[in-house]
Amino acid sequence: MKILMAATEAVPFAKTGGLADAVSALSIALAQEGHEIRIIIPRYYSIDRNNLQYLEGALGVPMGGREEWSAVYTTNLPGAPVKNPVSVYFIDHEQFFGRDGIYGVPSEPDFLDNPRRFTFFSRAVFQLCRKLSWYPDVVHAHDWPLALVPVFLKYGERIGGLAKTVSVLTIHNLGYQGIYHKDNYYYSNLDGNVFYEAGFDDWNMMNFLKAGINTADKLNTVSPNYAAETQTPAYGFRLDGVLRYRAADYRGILNGIDTKVWNPAIDRYIPKPYSIKDMEGKIKAKEALQKEFKLPLEPDIPIIGLVTRLTEQKGVGELFGPAYGSAWSICQDMRLQMVLLGSGDPWCENEIKNLSYRLANFKARIGYSEAESHLIEAGSDFFLMPSRYEPCGLNQMYSLAYGTLPIVRNTGGLADTVENFNQDTGKGTGFIFNDLTPQAIYNTVGWAVWAYYNCRAQVDAMRILGMKQDFSWKKSARQYSALYEEAIAKAAKTS
Ligand code: ADP
Repeated sequence: MKILMAATEAVPFAKTGGLADAVSALSIALAQEGHEIRIIIPRYYSIDRNNLQYLEGALGVPMGGREEWSAVYTTNLPGAPVKNPVSVYFIDHEQFFGRDGIYGVPSEPDFLDNPRRFTFFSRAVFQLCRKLSWYPDVVHAHDWPLALVPVFLKYGERIGGLAKTVSVLTIHNLGYQGIYHKDNYYYSNLDGNVFYEAGFDDWNMMNFLKAGINTADKLNTVSPNYAAETQTPAYGFRLDGVLRYRAADYRGILNGIDTKVWNPAIDRYIPKPYSIKDMEGKIKAKEALQKEFKLPLEPDIPIIGLVTRLTEQKGVGELFGPAYGSAWSICQDMRLQMVLLGSGDPWCENEIKNLSYRLANFKARIGYSEAESHLIEAGSDFFLMPSRYEPCGLNQMYSLAYGTLPIVRNTGGLADTVENFNQDTGKGTGFIFNDLTPQAIYNTVGWAVWAYYNCRAQVDAMRILGMKQDFSWKKSARQYSALYEEAIAKAAKTS
C-alpha cells in the first residue's frame, strides 16, 4: 500500500511529545512490512534547510480566496529500511512556520493563527501529492491540526489521482481538539453548508477534530481501552456522542515502544546492561540511581520512580496538591524512597521542591533529561502513574521492559498494558487502583511496598513476566495496515 503520513511532528525533526515518536516509528514499522510510506510535516524554523534537499518549483495552496506559496524540501527518514526508504517532505512557508515553537511559545502557548497555519498545512497535503504525481491509497492524518485532511478529501479533493484515496485519522489525545472562532472557516475554502454537514459546529465555534471524526473513513486512538472510554461522557471531552456515532469505524491500537532505545540489554544510560537471564545490572542501576539522587545507598529499600509532565492529566493534584496530596504521607509513613523527574505546572514544581527539602527519602529533579529518565526506569522497583486519563502511556511499557513494576490507575492504555497483582495466584505485572483519590494512591503504593517486603519471590516473578511482554511497533503496524485495508474496502463498497 502507498501511505502518506500527515502530521505536525516526527522524530528526529520536530518533537513536543509522544506523537513525534509514534509517527516515525509507525512509518518505519510499516516500511519494514513492505508498504510505501511517505511523511509530510511543516518545515519549522528549527529544522535546518541545509540538511534537506530542495524540490524544484513552488507549491501553491488555495486559501481563503487567494493562494499561499511555499517551498518543499525532502530527506530520508533515519532508521527506515535501506531497501525501502521513507521520504519526509517539509512544507516551508515563512509566515506560518518560520518561527520558534510548533504550536506556541511560553508567552503564547497556542499561536493565534494556529487555525490558519494548520488549515494551510492540511490543504498542502493534497497539493504535494499532485506536485509529486504520487497518489497514496491512504492518507493517515494525526490529531486535530491535520483533522481537516479527511474533511478536504471528502469535500472536493477526492478527484483525479486521489479518486480512490481514503483517510484514516488517529487521535493521540482527545483533550486537544482545535476549537476556534468560526471566522477561521474562511481559510478552508469549503462551502458554507459543509460547516454543518461535516460537523465543525461546536456551540457556534469551529471544532477541527470534531469535523475530522465525522468525515474520516476510519479512525482510531492509541489504546483499545481509551477507545472505549472516549465514548463515555467521563472521558469524551464532549465528543463522546460523535465517537459513539462512529463506533463501527473507531478502533484502539496500542502504540509500540522503541525497543532500540528502551531495552535494558543495550541501554547506554545504565551502568550495566541486564536481561531476564542476568538481572545483576538492575541492582547496579538502583545503586547508581541512589547515588545520582543523593539517597542513602540501601539495596533493600523499595524505590518508587516517576517521570512525567507535571499537569492535571497525570494525577499530580492528588499526589502533590498542597495539604491533600498523598506523596507527603506516603514518604512519611512507609519505608521507601521516591525519585521524580519532571517539569510542568509551576505550582506543582514548587510543591515538589518543598517536599524534597522536607523529606529525606523524596528526591526530585525539575527538568527534562533523557539519561535520568532511563536511570529511573532501570533503577526503580516501582513506577507510579496515577493518571486522570492516559490515551496510551509509554512509561508503563518502558517500566515493564525494565522489570520495574508499574503502579497505575485503571484507565486508558494503562489498563491495557498492566495486569493487576493477584495475591492468590502470584500472577500480574503491576498494581492497579480505580479511583483517582489521594487515599487510593496511598493504599496502592502501600500494597506494592508490602508485597516488596513480604512476597519477594512473587514480585521477582512479576518483573520477569513484565520483561517478556512484546510492545514492539511491529504488532501495532499490522493492526494499522488492517485498518487501512478496512478503510479501502469500505470506500470501494460505498462508491
Ligand atoms: P505523555 O505523552 O502524555 O507525556 P507518555 O507516557 O505517553 O505521556 O510519554 C511521555 C514521554 O516523555 C516518555 O517517553 C517519558 O519518559 C518522557 N518524559 C516526560 N517527562 C520527562 C522528563 N522530565 N525528562 C525526560 N523524559 C520525560
